[in-house]
Amino acid sequence: MKRFEQKTVLVTGAASGIGAACVRRLWEEGASVALADQDQTGLEKLISEFSETNDNPRIFGGRLDVSDSAQVQSFVAAAKGKFGHLHGLINCAGIKGVGNVLDCEPENWKKVMSVNLDGTFLMCQAFARAVQHDRTSRAIVNISSGAGIMGVPNRLPYVASKFAVSGVTRTMGAELGPYGIRVNAIAPGMVRTPFTAYMFEDPEKARRIRAAHAIGREGQPEEIAAVATFLLTDDASFMTGAVVSVDGGQTACIPSV
Ligand code: NAP
Repeated sequence: MKRFEQKTVLVTGAASGIGAACVRRLWEEGASVALADQDQTGLEKLISEFSETNDNPRIFGGRLDVSDSAQVQSFVAAAKGKFGHLHGLINCAGIKGVGNVLDCEPENWKKVMSVNLDGTFLMCQAFARAVQHDRTSRAIVNISSGAGIMGVPNRLPYVASKFAVSGVTRTMGAELGPYGIRVNAIAPGMVRTPFTAYMFEDPEKARRIRAAHAIGREGQPEEIAAVATFLLTDDASFMTGAVVSVDGGQTACIPSV
């Protein structure tokens, strides 16, 4: 099925994990993809999967720090310049945020918020401004987290940033509905990517992670990409402002004792 022929989608955090899985899925389904990540080497490696040359008509890659407003605006303008129209945006760029209320340093707090929250806001704003007059179906998918639904001790800045991503998603869904731009978020459970690889090094910790998911295992990035791409299509045409748990049941219920 080629749901994305003649469509252009921007993906941040594209060089790794969930972002890279989204790029591969979009590519297979015929999309033109504008990839952005702060990791230039990772971006080039991913792009080389699709083409041996740098002039692939369906791929545009750019190094980007999503927390930098000027870089975000130039990236979105460059993607629009290359492809003409933009149809979708998936915001995957994100970093960890460790710390608790007693020990979290303000600089750590600000760094996490600047990437996870400011980066999401800046990308959504630049994309929405670029497509607001198109008057046809456009869509944004933000990546929140189970930590954007439930608290997680010693992950305070991360939790704050992801609750905020869930909140701005709902609000932007309301704000952009009249423009034909849908905005939804995915709240993944634990997904096996470079972001979480260290958590699986200890077999006992890995067992506990799996036990925390109703279906008894962690997720794969392709399982998040499948829902993210669905949310971009007109099959999700009545969905906006939603935060969709894709978490193997991790946040479905309180464990019985
Ligand atoms: P990942 O494999 O680490 O991929 C994230 C990518 O974003 C990396 O390439 C990273 O580059 C890049 N990035 C970081 N800061 C950036 C910035 N300022 N500008 C542009 N790119 C930047 O992580 P993932 O597991 O795919 O996670 C993707 C998203 O899902 C994140 O928002 C994460 O919070 C969320 N999430 C993940 C899980 C999970 O279990 N994996 C669960 C819930 C939510 P570097 O490698 O150089 O940092």
